[in-house]
Amino acid sequence: MKTIYLATNNAHKVEELSAMFAREHLAVEVKSAAAIGGMPEVDETEDTFVGNATLKVMALADRLKEGEYALADDSGIEVDALDGGPGIYSARFAGKDASDGANLTKLLIIISGVPEDSRGAQFACSLMLVDHEGTRVSFSDICRGTLVPESRGENGFGYDPAFIPEGYDKTFGELDWTVKSRISHRAKALQQLVSWLKANA
Ligand code: IMP
Repeated sequence: MKTIYLATNNAHKVEELSAMFAREHLAVEVKSAAAIGGMPEVDETEDTFVGNATLKVMALADRLKEGEYALADDSGIEVDALDGGPGIYSARFAGKDASDGANLTKLLIIISGVPEDSRGAQFACSLMLVDHEGTRVSFSDICRGTLVPESRGENGFGYDPAFIPEGYDKTFGELDWTVKSRISHRAKALQQLVSWLKANA
């Protein structure tokens, strides 16, 4: 059985990916970075999601044995009216160590000043997988939608209460999580990863 170590200390991400692999009947075990010595502190200094996911995953690469992979993700929101910002700065939009709430509030204030027909945005996610030889493969996807200038709904996290995905009339904060788990940027990038693992791992 192959093992994927996630370049994160977030136990929730491990559970989420394990559940997805089980649904897909994929014989790959998911473990957190804690199982191979812990996730080192990584400065996200690159200017793309793929670049930052690469920095994170390479922090674990030299600990891998044959049959083992490491996986990192990086994601954020790209707002049309901000020329694609905050993008890789999504977690730090309202300042270093800003809370999700502070970041969302800053976005809501900006969007309230943008005309309704110019409120397009997308979530973007890049995943980077590396094997024990240092060979990398990446998977990226987006979820397009529009922003609303007020927080709607309690589901999800981050910018979800301001984002209405294309084809829906409710925000990710209002929609059931089962919808987001099918159509989100992360879900679609993970689906690409699953297909790759089925063919290659
Ligand atoms: P990270 O990649 O988990 O570090 O997330 C980067 C930033 O993007 C954080 O501010 C998140 O709140 C935001 N973000 C990433 N994915 C989502 C999402 O699915 N919903 C809402 N916010 C997100």
